[in-house]
Amino acid sequence: MNSHQDPSTDIMVRLDLLATISESPRHLTRRCFTPEHRQINDLAGALMRDAGMTVREDAVGNVIGRYEGLVEGAPAIMLGSHLDTVIMAGKYDGGLGILAAIDCVRSLHSRGIRFVDAIEIAGFADEEGVRFQSTYLGSRALAGTFDTALLNRPDKDGVTLAEAMQEFGLDPRRIGEAIRRTDELLCYLEVHIEQGPVLECEGLAVGAVTAISGANRMTVTLDGTAGHAGTVPMSARQDALIAASECVLAVEEIAARRASMVGTVGQMTVSPGATNVIPGRTTFSVDMRAPKDDLRRAAVAELKERMRGVAARRSVSISIEATHEATSVACAPWIIDEIEEAMTELGQRPFRLPSGAGHDAAAMAEITDVGMIFVRCAGGISHSPDESITGEDAVAGAHLLLRVVENIGAKKS
Ligand SMILES: [Zn+2]
Repeated sequence: MNSHQDPSTDIMVRLDLLATISESPRHLTRRCFTPEHRQINDLAGALMRDAGMTVREDAVGNVIGRYEGLVEGAPAIMLGSHLDTVIMAGKYDGGLGILAAIDCVRSLHSRGIRFVDAIEIAGFADEEGVRFQSTYLGSRALAGTFDTALLNRPDKDGVTLAEAMQEFGLDPRRIGEAIRRTDELLCYLEVHIEQGPVLECEGLAVGAVTAISGANRMTVTLDGTAGHAGTVPMSARQDALIAASECVLAVEEIAARRASMVGTVGQMTVSPGATNVIPGRTTFSVDMRAPKDDLRRAAVAELKERMRGVAARRSVSISIEATHEATSVACAPWIIDEIEEAMTELGQRPFRLPSGAGHDAAAMAEITDVGMIFVRCAGGISHSPDESITGEDAVAGAHLLLRVVENIGAKKS
């Protein structure tokens, strides 16, 4: 392959360009249905058009580019990622997947290559869910799993999702028009930064994602007895925080014992919360994730039993409230194979890893086969201005996507 056929090496320059569209001049923040959402859709749409695509905006504000196949109206290989960001985001989360996809089409277009199937790119309106505490608004609308009850949910300024959409120029009653039929799509492929340290530890630029992990979230409350820190003997205490501490260690131990499982306690409140008072009540969150659902459910069951045991032994009462459960989403085995085959062709060591973070591919899996390519990011740091990737790795990700699309397209042609 000569350099003319390579995905453009100026991908980093264009990632910087996307990152100039921000609600804040000091850091990158781009929430859905804001003026910045309008600007990013315009910019992404212009880049798609420049790559040879026809561009439209769908009923939920996703920008969709289409590179027609040899047969008009043929099903599409859909590529994509999200155009929104978290608050104080990095430049590569979402943006890399959009630009890698555009580079892929640009390369095919510049060489006059079309397949029987079309290629589409979806720039999703909202994946991070920052503004309305939702998940995957854009891809869920496309997959037909958009929860219309969310339309009444307000943002922090009291603007409902429906109002925000109207302000953006969309009619929330027409959201169903964003739905794509299964027979319109061949598959969905997404390039994304890993947001973890695994590829870096392996010394690899890219990897094939096996599954998007399922997750359980719980709120655990332990009720003991508050008392004077100076007068109650150690043997007579029902200290809710000491009991919670044992539970936190159980989360770590149970997760660490299982491959690919992670467990986190990220929030804890202690009351009354005074230096000289024995904690009477402790409430904490638990987040457990694994790519295999049976493994995750077994771990959660073991954790609950362990925490109840801790509570009984320490004479505190316990309540465990399940706040969220999502099953894992497997990437299609044939796509994982295609990605690994393309890695081999490009001289890269095939490597598979699960995704502990959620992605639009999880929503897209409702209607089509999905696959993801992860790109190494420095230190696994993401959702932070310190998020960092190299230009070489960005091009490696784009290059790999192009090869996968070429291989899938050629097989059908
Ligand atoms: Zn992302």
